[in-house]
Amino acid sequence: MSDSTTKTVDAVIVGAGFSGMYLLHRLREMGLKAVVFEAGTDVGGTWYWNRYPGARVDVESLAYSYSFSNDLEQEFEWKERYPTQPEILKYARHVADRFDLRKDIVFRTRVTAATYNDDSRDWLIRTEYGEAVTARWFVMATGCLSSSKMPEIPGLAAFKGATYHTAHWPHEGVDFTGQRVGIIGTGSSGVQSIPVIAEQALDLTVFQRTPSYSLPARNRKLRPQEVADMKARYPEFRQEQRESGAGVPVPIPTRSALEVADAERDSIYEQAWESGSLVNLLSSFTDLAVSQDANDTAKRWIHRKIHEIVADQAVADDLCPEYPFGTKRPCLDTNYFETYNRPNVHLVNLQRTPLIEVTEKGIRTSEREYEFDVIVYATGFDAMTGSLTNVDIRGRDGLSLRETWRAGPRTYLGIGSAGFPNLFMITGPGSPSVLSNMVVSIEQHVDFVADAIGHLREQGLATIEPTAEAQDAWVDHVNEIASHTLYPKANSWYMGANVPGKPRVFMPYAGGVGEYRKKCDEVAAKGYEGFALAF
Ligand code: NAP
Repeated sequence: MSDSTTKTVDAVIVGAGFSGMYLLHRLREMGLKAVVFEAGTDVGGTWYWNRYPGARVDVESLAYSYSFSNDLEQEFEWKERYPTQPEILKYARHVADRFDLRKDIVFRTRVTAATYNDDSRDWLIRTEYGEAVTARWFVMATGCLSSSKMPEIPGLAAFKGATYHTAHWPHEGVDFTGQRVGIIGTGSSGVQSIPVIAEQALDLTVFQRTPSYSLPARNRKLRPQEVADMKARYPEFRQEQRESGAGVPVPIPTRSALEVADAERDSIYEQAWESGSLVNLLSSFTDLAVSQDANDTAKRWIHRKIHEIVADQAVADDLCPEYPFGTKRPCLDTNYFETYNRPNVHLVNLQRTPLIEVTEKGIRTSEREYEFDVIVYATGFDAMTGSLTNVDIRGRDGLSLRETWRAGPRTYLGIGSAGFPNLFMITGPGSPSVLSNMVVSIEQHVDFVADAIGHLREQGLATIEPTAEAQDAWVDHVNEIASHTLYPKANSWYMGANVPGKPRVFMPYAGGVGEYRKKCDEVAAKGYEGFALAF
């Protein structure tokens, strides 16, 4: 129930990352009064929180940027091929300043609950401080990887030294000089931070449960000419991004990995490896994502590379993943495998000697206790659904999103969920999101949502909500596409497998951003087909 102290706006947006910032801008341009709630003290989302050493994006800077403003595209000067977290945060801040976004963002404030009122057809949104706001439109722009996770092992609080999670890194940084450091986790955050921590620490012990496929980034300073060339052809490039599979234009492969001779296949993998682009390697052939035999060729080739780089062949063996390449998120690194040649770096294979507990002095495995001054947790996120279900969202008739999704997320297009009128998710489960360049997918969703709201307002309509039939058909379609791929073979966060008790469901849409956009455009062109619109 709202009361006289409740503020009313047109739209409440949760999160001031790339999604929330652009949506705020769009809605304001349309004349709506919108407010953004953000838990952090500044904009940037992922790039605000993940400040661990070595943090970088693994999509090239000139492609990992907004396309909605030509002036913004032209004026911002990216420095590196793969920008660091501080550079991306600088970009986010620049966007906030340039479009004067901060005046409508409430920082240091977490949204805890949101309840739909069927009579007023508004949402009542509550924050951790008990503040209440009503809004016709409620948008969760909370990101896919923002609900961080500690490992489920006993004794976490027992450790007397310092502990850090990569997703909550102190703003002032951490000095590892002279320290004995243990790190748990070898996903992208571990793979990026391990080489940097190893350079500073006295000693670094890496606790690895599952090895990652990783490709050298070949990062470098951008050349003035390539920046000028891109700036000259941005409109064309942006169109290519939107029509591509992953929001990163690459030549479409035409051949199976099994139809080329070994030497030629090796040379194609070598070129992709040298290019420092994950998408190049993933799209070397038509069938790496769908055929085990084809995928095995990439797996064996990468294993060979790891064995060439890592001097101790037993360590190299432990660093070689067995699941199909690409079915867990591959990483992009700088000197990751090389780091295991340093005398101060040690690898513990948790598949052989599992973690037992964290102790006062360090970490105990089934083999022995390791003593540390610092433990770093690079243990990931409750991906895609965590940040949505962490808020107590109640739709029609008190329907709880958390309960409704207990057996796995159900959405229409990854944008809305039946029973939750006027609730939008930006890059929600069931959309390409994490399988793509996030900025491309974010802009597409923000545009879809803003256009839908514009349409409703023009037509004098009050609510939009996916129909149960359209949602069921979409969920079936998402599952059907995933079932033709190798993705379900790995215990990945795409499948929810990293969170005990989380249902095993492949959450993103694997049909590609180009196809997905076409579908969304068709839906909009047909008057938001599959959504029920009401006065
Ligand atoms: P992650 O990929 O989920 O990796 C978490 C790591 O912690 C895994 O190695 C996991 O092992 C391990 N782990 C978790 N719980 C454990 C336990 N109880 N015992 C032992 N090991 C445990 O998380 P992340 O590295 O933070 O990356 C998440 C995603 O964020 C990436 O996949 C990527 O999409 C994005 N990201 C991108 C970049 C970039 O653009 N460069 C950088 C960082 C992150 P298992 O694999 O066995 O579960």
